[in-house]
Amino acid sequence: MSAYALTIGGKPSPGSGTFDVLNPADGSVVAACPQGSVALVDAAVESARGALAAWAGLADAERVAKLMAVADLIDQHHAALSELVTREQGKTQSGPGANFEVHGAAAWTRVTAGLQLPEETIQDDAKQKIVVRRKPVGVVGSITPWNWPLIIAAWHVMPALRVGCTVVIKPSPFTPLSTLKLVELMNQVLPPGVINAVTGGPEVGNHMALHPGINKIVFTGSIPTGKKVMGGAAQTLKRVTLELGGNDAGIVLPGTNIEPLLEKLFWGCFINAGQTCAALKRLYVHADQYEDVVQKFAAYVRKIPVGDGLDPKNLIGPVSNKMQLDKVTAYVDDARAQGARIVTGGARTEGPGYFYPLTVIADATDDMRVVKEEQFGPVIPVIKYKTVDEAIRRANSLDVGLGGSVWGNDAQEAARHASRLECGTAWVNQHGALHPLAPFGGVKSSGIGTEFNVDGLKEYTTIQVVNMAL
Ligand code: NAD
Repeated sequence: MSAYALTIGGKPSPGSGTFDVLNPADGSVVAACPQGSVALVDAAVESARGALAAWAGLADAERVAKLMAVADLIDQHHAALSELVTREQGKTQSGPGANFEVHGAAAWTRVTAGLQLPEETIQDDAKQKIVVRRKPVGVVGSITPWNWPLIIAAWHVMPALRVGCTVVIKPSPFTPLSTLKLVELMNQVLPPGVINAVTGGPEVGNHMALHPGINKIVFTGSIPTGKKVMGGAAQTLKRVTLELGGNDAGIVLPGTNIEPLLEKLFWGCFINAGQTCAALKRLYVHADQYEDVVQKFAAYVRKIPVGDGLDPKNLIGPVSNKMQLDKVTAYVDDARAQGARIVTGGARTEGPGYFYPLTVIADATDDMRVVKEEQFGPVIPVIKYKTVDEAIRRANSLDVGLGGSVWGNDAQEAARHASRLECGTAWVNQHGALHPLAPFGGVKSSGIGTEFNVDGLKEYTTIQVVNMAL
C-alpha cells in the first residue's frame, strides 16, 4: 500500500496500480505513486460537481477562513513538504529552492484568500439599477507541470476555491507526490469533493480537457501540450487559462557595471537549474563589454555548488528527469557543433542522478537551437549585439513572450527599454521575481489569461449582469 493516495470525494483512493516516482539526484525510488485513470477522473469530476453548490453558496467569510486554515496547514507541514519537493523534483533545500516554494505556496494561499471581488454598480438612479456580479465558473480542471509542482498547484487551486469553484487537479507524473500530500492536507479542512486529485499522463489530461463535467481548464506546461488542451477544451467551449513556455531575453545595456548585478543575473538564469518558465534563457550583451561580462559571469557561475538538493551546502540540484537531461545535452551539443564556445560546463556529469553542470555558452547566435528554443535547463547562451534597438528587435523576434529584462546602471533608462519588450512581465536589474498581487501571464504563444491578484480571480468566474428597471 502506497503512503500516497489520490483524493476523490474527500476519501483516499489507491488508484489502479502504482508507478514509481524517481529522485533525480540519485535515481532511487521516492515512492510508488497511485495511478489514476479516466474512470477515476470521472469519479473525481462527479464528486466536484456534487460539492459545487454548497461550496459556492458558502458565506464568503467562511471560504476565506478555510483557505487561511489551508495556509496554516501548509506551514505546519512545511518541513515534510519541502523535503518531498526536493526528493521528487530535485530543487535544493537551500537558496530559492524547495523551502522557498513551500513558503510561496502558503503566502500565495493567504494573499489569495484575502482578495475580494465586490459587485460593481454600473448605474443606480431613479430609472434603473445595473450591477455586475461574478459567479464561480463551476468545476475547474487543473493540469500542472513538474518544475514547481507545489506552488503551481497553489496558483491554480486557491483562486478557484476562493471564488467558489470546486477542483480536480492532475499533477505531472514526474512530480505528483507533493500535490497528493497538499490535497490530502486540504481535505482536513475543506468539505469532501471540493478538491480532488487524480494522477496520470496525456490520456488522463486529455480526458479532463474533453470532459463535459469540467467548466474550465487551468493548464501550466509546454506550448505543444497547451495547444492540445485548448483543442480538447474547444469541444465543450470550456474556459481556459494557459500558462505556457517562454524564452525570456535579458539585455545588458552598454556600459553596465556588471559586478553588482551578477548575483541577480545568476538567479535569473539558473533558479531551479533553469527549469523555470520565466527564467532568463537568452542573454544579450553589447559588443564592447561582451568578453568582460562573459568571463565575469562564468567566474561567478563556477563558484555555485551543484549537487543533491538535500545537502544544505548545494544551491542548485539536478535536472529534474531523464527526458529533460537529454534535451539539455542535445541543445549544448548542437550549439558546440554550430561553433559556439562553451565557457564553463558543457558536458553531462558522470555518476548517479541527472546532473548537468551550470553552463555558459559564448558566441551564441540567434539561429542556434539553444537560443531560439526553450532550453529549460542549467544553460545560458550569451549573444553579442551592437545597438540597443537591434537587441530589442532580436529579443522580440520569437513567438513567445512570458518575461524579459533589461539590466543597466540607470534603472529608469532600463525601464524605458524594458517596456518595449513584447512580454507579460518586464523586469529591470532582476529577472523572474513574482508577487502575488502582480498579475502574471504571457503574450504571444506563451499563454492565454492571467494569474494572481483580482485579475487572476476573475479567470475563475463568469459575469452576470443584473439589470433592474425601477
Ligand atoms: P508538459 O506540457 O509536458 O506537461 C504539463 C502537464 O500536461 C503534465 O501534467 C502532463 O502530464 C500534462 N499533459 C501531457 N499531455 C497532455 C495532453 N495531451 N492533454 C492534457 N494534459 C497533458 O510540460 P512540462 O514538461 O511538465 O513543463 C515544462 C513546460 O511548462 C515548459 O515549457 C515551461 O516553460 C512551462 N511552464 C510554464 C509556466 C508558466 O507559468 N507560463 C510555469 C511553469 C512551466
